[in-house]
Amino acid sequence: MAFKAAAYAAQSGTSPLAPFTIDRRDPGPNDVQMEILYCGVCHSDLHSARGEWEFIQFPVVPGHEIVGKVTKIGANVKKFKVGDRSAVGCLVDSCRGCGNCERGLEQYCQKGFTLTYASPDVHFPGKMTYGGYSKAITVDERFVLKVPNSLDLAAAAPLLCAGITTYSPLKHWGATKGKKVGVVGLGGLGHMGVKFAHAFGCHTVLFTTSESKIADGKRLGADEVVISKNADAMNKHAGSFDFILNTVAASHNLDAYTNLLRLDGTLCLVGAPEHPHPSPSVWPLLFQRRSIAGSAIGGLPETQEMLDFCAKHNIVSDIEMIPMQKINEAYERMLKSDVKYRFVIDMASLK
Ligand code: NAP
Ligand code: ZN
Ligand code: ZN
Repeated sequence: MAFKAAAYAAQSGTSPLAPFTIDRRDPGPNDVQMEILYCGVCHSDLHSARGEWEFIQFPVVPGHEIVGKVTKIGANVKKFKVGDRSAVGCLVDSCRGCGNCERGLEQYCQKGFTLTYASPDVHFPGKMTYGGYSKAITVDERFVLKVPNSLDLAAAAPLLCAGITTYSPLKHWGATKGKKVGVVGLGGLGHMGVKFAHAFGCHTVLFTTSESKIADGKRLGADEVVISKNADAMNKHAGSFDFILNTVAASHNLDAYTNLLRLDGTLCLVGAPEHPHPSPSVWPLLFQRRSIAGSAIGGLPETQEMLDFCAKHNIVSDIEMIPMQKINEAYERMLKSDVKYRFVIDMASLK
């Protein structure tokens, strides 16, 4: 059985987001149905809605930074009761049986995970999953997170993607006290990366193309801010970083950053631009045994760990709330790097 939910969708890569009605399933035994109160706006939503990624099929209802409250639960649900604060990130299912799923690394499921939007939906054969730009969603409880009470719900929404996508690689590559860590790009992901690197005790350096973001970078936790277009300022940091997290949403020259790594340092890419980066030179990599790596979101256990860490350290996203109807304008501003530092949609605006 299914019910109708109001949503916003892109019908093609060239049409703006507009009202759309979708089917959601009634909760099965293991499902949680939630009312979506807020949904963050990720640059991945824009890449998807504009058809910049090959695998995208239309219509697309974007949104994978979903928070709200539980409205119904299935008979077997243990973690949630009606009225609880709940959240859904980028994944709504995975095989659950492969080695990576068993380790709680559902984002690296060897049989293929189900993305919150734009994945084939087993519950509605022939259709794709629809994301959080809507009033309601039904998800298996394994893929639903608990939002600690102390966190402002709207400002917690971006933690579900921007938060975990930066927390996970910083943890994996050992960003701890005494390490020199760079974060490239002060957008949704970047501002969370700066907050986490600072909270982990790293010497945190922000690289930005926007002179106007220097003061904000420091306020958010950067010890130093470097304007990445200034070659002299970049060269001063040559060979000094343990780890650099690159969140930039457009293709650019990676050598500028690999040259800044020390022996065995890693440049980790999380930005997923439409067009490939120019091929990196091998020399900076082999002379100091440096690595270029990538990282995708985070698994469910680590996402809950990150939310609990945020509650303990009083960390949320810096947000600008928008009504659903302003989403196309928000995308245009995102393309101009004019986001401080995450748009969040107030779903009360969607009737
Ligand atoms: P965003 O809010 O638009 O931030 C991107 C930032 O990159 C901008 O604010 C800007 O920062 C910088 N930038 C933009 N264009 C640039 C250019 N041409 N050259 C240099 N810097 C530029 O985007 P976001 O939501 O943080 O997402 C960032 C990227 O991560 C997107 O590609 C998104 O799809 C991807 N993503 C990946 C994962 C994953 O699992 N790996 C998860 C979520 C998102 P400054 O103004 O400071 O320069
Ligand atoms: Zn995202
Ligand atoms: Zn799996």
